[in-house]
Amino acid sequence: MRKKIVAGNWKMNMELEEGLNLVKSINQYFTDKPSVRCEVIVCPPYIHLASVNQILKNGKVRAGAQNCASEKSGAYTGEVSAPMIKSTGAEYVIIGHSERRTYYNEDNRILNKKTILALGAGLKVIFCCGEVKEERESGKYFEVVRTQLEEGLFTLKPEEITNVVIAYEPVWAIGTGLTATPEQAQEMHEYIRSLIKGKYGSVIAENITILYGGSCKPSNAAEIFSKPDVDGGLIGGASLKKEDFIAIVEAV
Ligand code: PEP
Repeated sequence: MRKKIVAGNWKMNMELEEGLNLVKSINQYFTDKPSVRCEVIVCPPYIHLASVNQILKNGKVRAGAQNCASEKSGAYTGEVSAPMIKSTGAEYVIIGHSERRTYYNEDNRILNKKTILALGAGLKVIFCCGEVKEERESGKYFEVVRTQLEEGLFTLKPEEITNVVIAYEPVWAIGTGLTATPEQAQEMHEYIRSLIKGKYGSVIAENITILYGGSCKPSNAAEIFSKPDVDGGLIGGASLKKEDFIAIVEAV
């Protein structure tokens, strides 16, 4: 059985105290509920990671970063490396979020470099892929996602790809209130799994976790997560509200 995951991407939200309060209550909730077997991850801004991990030390919830540098160390003012993230106790890092691709011009080559560094530092990678609206409308979405995966991930060895979670996030659905239909999500997740199978074989393909992201909320989560190739979600806006995030995790 592959792992089910719900990860909250806080983006550039939450000052320290409110972030820690949110983490405390989410962690308490899931630590007291062993029946929830889905892995729950919070991805706060870098600056909160060490404090968040102090709270999560004995709990059930894990933490991840939203990005990492494309170099291991050195004179890169303002950057945060994968080993630094690991040293806070974080277990995951999101790489290739569409906001990084769009606003910071991160291309597949850079994302591949970051992925290799993150895995080398002992982190697990949540690798995002997904098409923009025009690519969906022109029918190019399979091709776009295939290129993102081939260039971003498929240089990895089989023992490396097993530490990667893929998040399919149609860009037109992120923060817009538009959601892919459960059928659209399933179609793409099945396609992604077939690409993994072609490259790494059926055992790895069957075991890799593929998340859906894009305006997921308590009212639509259960239907999307009911699809056979959807193994959970990467959640933006709704991860900032305790009740919504918990309801989404419980929908898995
Ligand atoms: C995201 O940023 O990864 C995301 C899915 O955002 P939202 O849920 O707000 O659409």
